[in-house]
Amino acid sequence: MKLQQIVQKLNAELQIAAFGPDPAFSRLIPAVYDQVNFEWKSAFEEEFSKLFNGLMIKGAPETKRVFLAVFPTDYVLEQFIAQSSEGDLLFMHHPLLMECGDPQGRWGEGFVPIKEMYIKLMKEKQLSCYTCHIPLDYHPNLGISMAIANQLNAKVVDGILPGSVNNQDLVLICTIENLNSNELIERLKKIFDLPYIDFEGQALEEISKIAIVAGCGDKVHWMQEAEKKGVQAYISGEIHCHINNEYGRERYDQIKEYASESSMSLIGVSHSASEYLVKKTLIKDWFEENLGVETVLIPQEKWWL
Ligand SMILES: [Zn+2]
Repeated sequence: MKLQQIVQKLNAELQIAAFGPDPAFSRLIPAVYDQVNFEWKSAFEEEFSKLFNGLMIKGAPETKRVFLAVFPTDYVLEQFIAQSSEGDLLFMHHPLLMECGDPQGRWGEGFVPIKEMYIKLMKEKQLSCYTCHIPLDYHPNLGISMAIANQLNAKVVDGILPGSVNNQDLVLICTIENLNSNELIERLKKIFDLPYIDFEGQALEEISKIAIVAGCGDKVHWMQEAEKKGVQAYISGEIHCHINNEYGRERYDQIKEYASESSMSLIGVSHSASEYLVKKTLIKDWFEENLGVETVLIPQEKWWL
């Protein structure tokens, strides 16, 4: 299949242009790559250097398989480079690795650039790379939080933080069949293939209303708003920031303080696992059904990193 055809279809489905420059990565890509003196503007596609979503690296014009991953860890890139053939495409959520830290282990380094060596290897093999962040967060049926709601058989009834492009909410408020905190945690561990979750707040006997926000949901005002709406369990990638710097420690303390008085169960399933689920489910199906293209999943070596 023509790469150009895949890119056009993705750009249209995800409304890449309508969302404009990605609010997070338009700031982070220059900051992170300038620090290591990497000429990111000439390495990445011109359009990507303006919008920070879309086709980042353009390889050969014919694509056989699409590889699906969430963050560009060394392991993910090595797998892609080793398993792919010329022209294949890697579709990810982040153009930078984000180390958010392990609640039971090492704290993370925050945003980490892709090593120049891997960018060079991808170009030598004429591989392509496409990333999509905010437009996927807000997508009405391929959204990252929507993928979690689907797996929990949760029904979206309300939301917080509507987006300006399509009026979808970033935080989904849903009803679910009655569960206690432990049952919900066990279900989440299974869905996300996790050895453990991150937990704060109250262990509850009855949970029927939940908030879901994939990625960094560690914002006290979002949690407060969800609590006001009667939510009993707040599920996110991160309920805590475990980034090893002043910013990370400050954010950690803010949540600790809020959690001590919150009435909700606060459950973190890791930033990367929370955003990978949509790749494994909705995005995989979308590629196969809409483009008839073969997909290959590259789960991360470790979710808590
Ligand atoms: Zn994210």
